[in-house]
Amino acid sequence: MNKTAETSWNGVFILAEQFAGRVLPVSFELLRRGRELADTCGTTLSAMIFGHEICRDGLQELIDCGADRVVATEAAELEHFLVEPYAACMLDVVEQYHPDIILAAATTTGRTLMPYVAVKLHAGLTADCTELAIEADSGNLLQIRPAIGGNILATIKTPDHRPQMATVRPHSTRPAERVDGRSGEIVCQAAPADRLAGRVEHLEFIADDSPHHLEDADVVVVVGRGIKKGENVSVGAELAEALDAALGASREVVDRGWLTYPHQIGLSGKTVTPRLYVGLGVSGSIQHLAGMQTSETIVAVNTDADAQIFQVADIGIVGDLFEIAPALTAALRQVKQDNSTTK
Ligand SMILES: Cc1cc2nc3c(=O)[nH]c(=O)nc-3n(C[C@H](O)[C@H](O)[C@H](O)COP(=O)(O)OP(=O)(O)OC[C@H]3O[C@@H](n4cnc5c(N)ncnc54)[C@H](O)[C@@H]3O)c2cc1C
Repeated sequence: MNKTAETSWNGVFILAEQFAGRVLPVSFELLRRGRELADTCGTTLSAMIFGHEICRDGLQELIDCGADRVVATEAAELEHFLVEPYAACMLDVVEQYHPDIILAAATTTGRTLMPYVAVKLHAGLTADCTELAIEADSGNLLQIRPAIGGNILATIKTPDHRPQMATVRPHSTRPAERVDGRSGEIVCQAAPADRLAGRVEHLEFIADDSPHHLEDADVVVVVGRGIKKGENVSVGAELAEALDAALGASREVVDRGWLTYPHQIGLSGKTVTPRLYVGLGVSGSIQHLAGMQTSETIVAVNTDADAQIFQVADIGIVGDLFEIAPALTAALRQVKQDNSTTK
């Protein structure tokens, strides 16, 4: 909507997500982003959430992690994400509170819902931001994201329209920390029946039962071009198995067809923030670092002592991955075996 209209736009809202009534972790990343923006603007942070029988502890956790207010809209029809009823209910929340800024995660839900709502509101939307800030003089939201194939970082703003809307790359920041006993307002409202119609019907949910999701994995082993050929990916895969880790790859590995695109980490792949990242034969290009440098502990194995990855590594091993990775795998397997025999 045009900013010059009579309405006063105020506060930062995030779109929290739920599944089966449980608040999803990505919501807490948005709370960290939203809290920083709200504090800079001297305004409030609210979380809106849509679902059915949403766990009340989850709503309180949103408050504990930084929200001043939670607005939960519930109906049986909102149990699973369907764009039309979700959008109708979200438009009601916007109409009720007139938020200045709305953030959602660049998940399937966020990427589908936000453009739909932005069009209805005649508002601007920047997709897949990796950074957000507030412009000092104007107070406008600076929405920063890679552009032109990742070769530049573009800063986008929406000076004339409100709300300012952005989706944010999952895992591009850490979740907000919990502060027990934080107080805030929780508003639970039933969705009006006339908001729940839609042309899409939810038939069935089929869970993805692959053992390790790269983005959610605690430990990630990544193979780079130093692995030399497709057959050698097993060296990384075996270490990943021994560490109970997900297997990732640099773009060089994916471009050569040694692993598929869902394994790619970096600017044009996935962003990961595991507790432990182990890079085997990865040089540490700026584009790769964009997808992993917020990992808690980074271990890198590379024959080149000057490799860029050592600049971000907590533990750097200058050496041949074909010696080091199998030795680590064997040692880990031995530990597992010893543990199982002493039980
Ligand atoms: C627009 C754009 C987007 C991009 N997006 C991505 C992205 O999402 N993800 C990504 O990864 N890249 C991306 N890239 C590519 C990126 O620029 C690099 O080319 C790529 O990350 C390099 O991959 P690598 O480290 O596996 O290979 P290399 O840079 O070739 O490094 C291989 C490393 O292996 C080491 N090595 C060799 N043999 C051994 C051995 N026996 N033991 C140990 N170490 C060894 C070498 O010393 C070297 O450091 C992008 C590029 C562009 C232009």
